[in-house]
Amino acid sequence: MKISINKNIESLTPYQPGRPIEDLARELGIPNNTIAKLASNECPLGPSYKALDAMKKACSEMNYYPDGGAFFLRNKLSKHFGIDKEQFIFGNGSNEILELIGHCFVNEETSVIASEHAFIVYKLITKMFGGNLIEVPVSKGLEHNLDAMVEAITDDTRVIFICNPNNPTGTLLSQEKLDKFIAQVADNILIVFDEAYAEIVLDEMPDTFEYLKTKNNVIVLRTFSKAYGLAGLRIGYGIANQEIISILNKPRQPFNVNRIAQIAACAAIEDEKFVGEFKDLCNSSRNLFVDFCIKHNLEYIKPAANFILIKVLNGLDIFNKLQEKGIIVRPMQPYNLPEWIRISYGTLEENKKCLDALAELI
Ligand SMILES: *Cc1c(COP(=O)(O)O)cnc(C)c1O
Repeated sequence: MKISINKNIESLTPYQPGRPIEDLARELGIPNNTIAKLASNECPLGPSYKALDAMKKACSEMNYYPDGGAFFLRNKLSKHFGIDKEQFIFGNGSNEILELIGHCFVNEETSVIASEHAFIVYKLITKMFGGNLIEVPVSKGLEHNLDAMVEAITDDTRVIFICNPNNPTGTLLSQEKLDKFIAQVADNILIVFDEAYAEIVLDEMPDTFEYLKTKNNVIVLRTFSKAYGLAGLRIGYGIANQEIISILNKPRQPFNVNRIAQIAACAAIEDEKFVGEFKDLCNSSRNLFVDFCIKHNLEYIKPAANFILIKVLNGLDIFNKLQEKGIIVRPMQPYNLPEWIRISYGTLEENKKCLDALAELI
């Protein structure tokens, strides 16, 4: 091709998602419903029950554009969390908000700090906008090393991404560690707390909303993709001070969050029953997977959310062999963890199927 490509884009490798069910079903010549997809940390219970009802009713209004300001959802979340409604921004998944952060704050003259083995999108976004990514080595147990992240700060540091719990490792940083960290970061650096799993964390989830009261350089990201089972709809949000929100709104597409998503999210946020059931399922799944690892002498990282990282020595090989048995997990070589696989919890039946297959392979 003779058209020259923007230099930041040329070297980008597109994000590799978990393999879709339909894709593997076609290859193996078996029905979709015999495949266990345990690859993208999705909710195996389906969408939030309340959201499902609301979505069905909403279909007849699809001739209208969505509300770009997400009035109803904004008010609902504002009441739900007791946070001012001007402090919210909505995205086509929280991934879009990560991209808006890149648009507004990352360029060739800036550096961005993230942990090694953190969510890969931080790396993609930083590269996309020409920033310099400083990847800080993890501490014991693959946890973010917050002290080392503070030390990595330089004059040109603009953004620090903290993924808590972290995907794909499943580690959870404590309130104490975050408090210490936040006290050491100057207020000319944006601190991003990516909390995609906050609602289903099995241990004590630190409260980062508290920081929003005193800090004007913090943004907390949440999503409806995980706890509410709405990954297919694409809706997430960020909470920060008004000034940051108004900057992030500048490059935002006017109708970035679709109408059904806004309606579903309004209903989902009230669906405590659903989230409770999912959390119970995560808890029993975690026990099942951890017991399995202990029994088979496999190294694993203590999981805080709905997935577990297990050391299987050749992650890609185990991934391929599980796939032949109709089970999709995630090999971890893109995260520089080639000996590991990440397994998202499925239904109890899917979990058992996966562990039986894994037992045969190891
Ligand atoms: C799943 C996930 C997200 C959510 O992405 P959406 O775009 O809201 O679906 C964000 N961050 C992390 C770390 C995740 O694992």
